[in-house]
Amino acid sequence: MSSNRSEALFAAACEHIPGGVNSPVRAFRGVGGNPVFFSRALGAYLFDADDRCYIDYVCSWGPAILGHAHPDVIREVQEAATLGLSFGAPTEVEVEMAATVRRLVPSMDLVRMVSSGTEATMSAIRLARGHTGRDVLVKFEGCYHGHSDSLLVKAGSGALTLGVPSSAGVPASLAAHTVTLPYNDIEAVEAFFRERGHEVACVIVEPVAGNMNCIPPVPGFLQALRQVCDDSGAVLIFDEVMTGFRVALESAQGLYGVRPDLTTLGKVIGGGMPVGAFGGRRDIMEKIAPLGPVYQAGTLSGNPIAMRAGLKTLSLISQPGLHEQLSARARALCDGFEAAGRAAGVPVTTHQVGGMFGLFFSDKPVWSYADAMACDSAHFQRFFHAMLEEGVYLAPSAFEAGFVSIAHTAADIDNTIAAAERALRATR
Ligand code: PMP
Repeated sequence: MSSNRSEALFAAACEHIPGGVNSPVRAFRGVGGNPVFFSRALGAYLFDADDRCYIDYVCSWGPAILGHAHPDVIREVQEAATLGLSFGAPTEVEVEMAATVRRLVPSMDLVRMVSSGTEATMSAIRLARGHTGRDVLVKFEGCYHGHSDSLLVKAGSGALTLGVPSSAGVPASLAAHTVTLPYNDIEAVEAFFRERGHEVACVIVEPVAGNMNCIPPVPGFLQALRQVCDDSGAVLIFDEVMTGFRVALESAQGLYGVRPDLTTLGKVIGGGMPVGAFGGRRDIMEKIAPLGPVYQAGTLSGNPIAMRAGLKTLSLISQPGLHEQLSARARALCDGFEAAGRAAGVPVTTHQVGGMFGLFFSDKPVWSYADAMACDSAHFQRFFHAMLEEGVYLAPSAFEAGFVSIAHTAADIDNTIAAAERALRATR
């Protein structure tokens, strides 16, 4: 149940904003009811408009890896703001950002900053098409790569939650170039490439899927993508907007040992500010304007405040052992969810990779879009609201990954597990 002030704010919001929200994933369409409005956040906690506190496992959909309002990041933002908000001209901090990204993600020879994940993936795809002179884009069912036209075909995240995985408004002639294959299905990929590999400009994939809940790659899946791209001359794009710096400091490509041609980043790299980035092989990146014929630009790209927030975040998460601790916390949470499920007699299963996790109402392991769709989403809805009552904020959809931050203490995890056990018993 949301707070009284949230209800009033939502009613007012609906007067002025479509559906009362500025991004559909914030609506409670996947769980029923109205969204909670938040007024502040600190560490692992969100405070709603009535100042009720929640343990937060959305973490702003990923960026808040240090927890909310980390004092060092806030200080950077405040200091940067005194120097001017935006110059529309190059700044030193952009050089530092690109150098830092290259050091952490060595496949990225050149890096271009943008202002959102959507811009990053849209630009990477245009670049791959411009580089190869081909049009076909291969993506995977249930993956979400932002809301550019070519990518809203059988997409995940809010598009899936709202039942419009293929958006209206995308010309059929454009959607015809997007081929969607089943995630984690190596045979389907190989079969498609045998037929049409020569037409493919790029394969874009979430190296750990996080937009149909959280589904890691099966062993060999990412390697198979690398192989078909090598054989066909297609560009392999890892969309690490969600996984970048979150599943490991070296991101998913480091964790799984597969080197993509292009990488897209967002979320953590902005430390909570609006940022995205794309980069990769020098010969491909040199095709971008002003060096090459593929056009891409942005008034606020490389914004100095966003760069400083992101750089401070990257520096703080580079502390040795941080990702091990993050992983351990997320693992403990998942183990606790599974134990709570057993205690309550409710079949639940989980996935966890670094600071990302998935909780599924299923008695079978979940490795595909079809598996995710087969989960008991009605039970998730009841569980979501019971957890909200308990003061735990989960993503308001069965088709979104969860996130743990380094600010989540062992006590927060224990309290969440205890709440989950009560919620599972109450909703079974
Ligand atoms: N790619 C992935 C993997 C994402 O998870 C998202 C957003 N959740 C995007 C791209 C789009 O990013 P943004 O919302 O910043 O445009």
